[in-house]
Amino acid sequence: MRRLILVSLAFVFAACSHVAHNSCTPWWRYEPERQNEWPAACKVGPERSPVNITTRTEAEYPQISIHYTPFVPRMYNNNRGAKLYADGNGGYVTVTYADGRSEQFDLQELHLHRLGEHTFSGTPAPMELHFVNEDRDHNAKVVVTILFDVTSPSENPGLKEIIPIMPVVSCTYVQGVRINPMNLLPVGWESSPYYVYDGALTTPDCPGGLKFFILDRRAMTNSDQLARIDTVIGRNAKTVAVRELPGIPVVHPLK
Ligand SMILES: [Zn+2]
Repeated sequence: MRRLILVSLAFVFAACSHVAHNSCTPWWRYEPERQNEWPAACKVGPERSPVNITTRTEAEYPQISIHYTPFVPRMYNNNRGAKLYADGNGGYVTVTYADGRSEQFDLQELHLHRLGEHTFSGTPAPMELHFVNEDRDHNAKVVVTILFDVTSPSENPGLKEIIPIMPVVSCTYVQGVRINPMNLLPVGWESSPYYVYDGALTTPDCPGGLKFFILDRRAMTNSDQLARIDTVIGRNAKTVAVRELPGIPVVHPLK
């Protein structure tokens, strides 16, 4: 009975969400020519993301510490990618600023982009993962960004958990099985430098006010995993109006 109610609620929620967010209505699309039709904020917004990284400036803050915990994702395929929602049950990150102030941001959802969105001297990574975290007052977001390289034959342990449960059917919420988001971090992430900048969501309407942390150390996957992900998410990278950000701060974690 309880299961029936949960399933019914899931359908109601999916229906409401469909109306509220139009997340399955393709009024915006990823084809390069269609990205030109995206709202102005996505193309000329001063905080727009992604950015192209060329030169960098050493910085000590903000520091970030990652404390994700296993959770059962609520998942949604919106025809442009698959979102795995933690809804605040997947742990948190703590951001500490130069003045000693600290803020906590709870993991809300994670999703993948193919190809990567941020570029290094114009070149994207094969794949990019966004952990979207939000403060308790829902005022600010922090996006922890992991870049993936393809190094066959290694299989990524975090993707191994996600790939079998990624929702193939679009526009319906489905329940996953327990995953551990820490398995998606690259080996040695604790000592990896990271790039930090103030940016915006990379999907319309591209609202700003986000802080991106891009780990310099990359996670590894193989071509087989990538091919399986492609069957679910296709190509979903924002490539229009990539912002040049020379001198982006690069922070080394304090011991
Ligand atoms: Zn994203």
